[in-house]
Amino acid sequence: MQQQLFETEPAQWELDAREQRLVATVVLGGGAAGEYDYLVPDIFCDESLGDRLVETGRRLQVPFGRSNRRVVGYCVRLETKQVDAKRLKQVTGVVDTASLLSSAMLQLTKWMADYYLCPWGQVLEAVVPAGVRRLAGTRQVTLLKVPSDVAGNLESQPVSSKQQRRALDVLAASSEPLTASQLAAAAGCTAAPIKQLLKKGLVEGFTKRVASSEFDDINVPREKPLELNPDQRTALNEIFTALEAAEPQGLVLHGVTGSGKTEVYLQAIKRVIGFGRQAIVLVPEISLTPQTVRRFRARFDSVAVLHSHQSDVERHRHWQRIARGEVQVVVGARSAVFSPTPHLGLIVIDEEHESSFKQDTAPRYHARDVAWQRALAEGIPLVLGSATPALESWQRAKQGEFKLLTLPNRVMNLALPDVATIDLRDPGQTRTSRGGISRPLHQAMNTALQDGGQVMLLLNRRGFSTHIQCPACGEVLKCVDCDISLTFHRQKNKAICHYCDREELPPTACPECKSQAIRYGGLGTQKLEDEVRARFPQAVCARMDTDSMRSAGSHELVLDRFRHGEIQILLGTQMIAKGLDFPNVTLVGVVNADTALHLPDFRAGERTFQLVAQVAGRTGRGEKGGRVLVQTLNPDHPAIAAAVRHDYEKFSQHELAQRAELEYPPFGALLRIVIRGPSEEIARETAAHLSQQLKSNSSPEEAVRIIGPAVAPIPKLRGNFRFHIQMQAKQGETLRQVAQQSVAKLKLPKDVICTVDVDPWDML
Ligand code: ADP
Ligand code: ZN
Ligand code: ZN
Repeated sequence: MQQQLFETEPAQWELDAREQRLVATVVLGGGAAGEYDYLVPDIFCDESLGDRLVETGRRLQVPFGRSNRRVVGYCVRLETKQVDAKRLKQVTGVVDTASLLSSAMLQLTKWMADYYLCPWGQVLEAVVPAGVRRLAGTRQVTLLKVPSDVAGNLESQPVSSKQQRRALDVLAASSEPLTASQLAAAAGCTAAPIKQLLKKGLVEGFTKRVASSEFDDINVPREKPLELNPDQRTALNEIFTALEAAEPQGLVLHGVTGSGKTEVYLQAIKRVIGFGRQAIVLVPEISLTPQTVRRFRARFDSVAVLHSHQSDVERHRHWQRIARGEVQVVVGARSAVFSPTPHLGLIVIDEEHESSFKQDTAPRYHARDVAWQRALAEGIPLVLGSATPALESWQRAKQGEFKLLTLPNRVMNLALPDVATIDLRDPGQTRTSRGGISRPLHQAMNTALQDGGQVMLLLNRRGFSTHIQCPACGEVLKCVDCDISLTFHRQKNKAICHYCDREELPPTACPECKSQAIRYGGLGTQKLEDEVRARFPQAVCARMDTDSMRSAGSHELVLDRFRHGEIQILLGTQMIAKGLDFPNVTLVGVVNADTALHLPDFRAGERTFQLVAQVAGRTGRGEKGGRVLVQTLNPDHPAIAAAVRHDYEKFSQHELAQRAELEYPPFGALLRIVIRGPSEEIARETAAHLSQQLKSNSSPEEAVRIIGPAVAPIPKLRGNFRFHIQMQAKQGETLRQVAQQSVAKLKLPKDVICTVDVDPWDML
């Protein structure tokens, strides 16, 4: 006892050296992890200095390491304490003129660092946008618009090239004026055609300082709140109650497609703004269309939109406006959850089941879980809306941890569409058709088009042929850098790897046996497009996938044309399945419901259910009603059978029972470690070594299951061989502890990279 005391208490001479000093604790954005203490000299303590004040959430310049090189770090703590002043270095500068992170945000980022096993500094770099860190300034910009006389008569304007035509159309269709570079990006052209348009007077320019907030909100006609139906009213009242309680509360809003969830959000937000507070609305990036944004701008004075195409300057400007409390509603993708709203009152996540809310680079956070932590820290409600809630959210609602709100019907008594499956195993369905469209689907399309309706076709595979195979020797052509079969793209006439974008010329003979009989098989959206054009030559058809939608704005252009009836058949990947609302769509065809069904991922069934249910929700939104045909080889699979009946309850019951048995989320926690490297042998050995470490670090009573190492389902990616280890336990905390201990001790060979994914969504 005596011994121990003697060791922990400082010696007398040490005490003498100590004094009360102001100490700033700093974490570095890059490089060394950990927290470092620095003395704050008096010159940085004078309140009247303002700009040079040391304060938490500002970045400081500090000397670091033996050579005392100057580095920049975030001040995460500031306190007067007893220190041995001689042992501490001093802060040498203050970078920011105002704090970038409130104490609530510092707390949130610390939670992320601990939870996702990521250095705090790296989290901070991810949370504070690059434009803000670089202090990208506001500036004068020239904005372009189409004069109204030109816009009124677009077709007959004297354009002299396809690019000019396109640029003019894109600008005319844009709801806001664009800068030249925004327009070039949206139209996929260079500056030259835009200059020509300016010269001809078809486009006019005006200058504007982009720091003004009114810039965002012009030209949106005002709309009044709708009269809610009883289900919406009940849901809204529950949210009101939660808002008044001024406590953290999770609410799962389960509403079928077209049930009016957005209207409930809008009216809840109105109340929040009435309290003088702000709201954050997260939507999947792909749903962040001008239509979505307009619905918010039509209701509220000041809406900031955050998405990934924004320039650093724009982002910085939004950030400043939000931080000053000038913004009432922030609408944005995943990272908008970090918006520096001074008095946050509500967070809404729409389509909360979407996998895009999980970030796939460090910090590998899930916006839903971060939002919940933020709700806890700020004492506010979090609303999670979906027609197909993630089972994690559903389970919390079922257990009473979150409140469940239900909108069981579509608005205005519209019926959910009839959904039927087409069993592709039955030769009667397919005999007369060679391509991807079965006889019944062809007939249904015909009928729909004849009745003046529009058709959507979903096929979740882009490209033309999804594999290239030699029938003589069986060889399947694969990417040399990834163990992935190449997809043939006919327009480019290239064989392309969908993981690393590597392109090669398609072979005319088998690279193995030189047989000339090489065959292009499998159906991609490009081949489907050809088939549709051949079958329905009188209809206008458009394809929407990441290949056809490369430039910003093109997505919007196609949807606008579809909305106005200029396109009759819209086909595409899951891009078309999300949140679109077209009353004239009377038929939705799912060309192959099985694409995700057999992936080695415990969420494969859930993803299939979500995709079919969501795309089915795109029809039957008008008076004409609508139907859905789902082509599948697995009509009896529980996920497909339930989606066909719009039966989320049944699906979740079945799926949860399976998850419970295997202790998969939400009944247990998962952690995935991927080891990758250019040498297969070294990567394998490292993974094996780590797995040993993990096993020896987990005590038997904590019941950690360690599966692997195994070759990852995608064994090779961008030249790196991949091995993975999966860890499973009842409590996530147990997994984090074991993983952190073992990974910290791991000495990684050169070029080998280890990534730790807490609550993984990507299992490939
Ligand atoms: P969800 O988000 O659940 O798919 P939306 O909020 O987009 O549904 O609503 C679908 C459509 O119904 C929208 O056009 C919306 O304006 C309309 N709508 C919503 N609530 C009502 C209501 N109470 N009365 C009439 N129309 C409504
Ligand atoms: Zn061959
Ligand atoms: Zn590749």
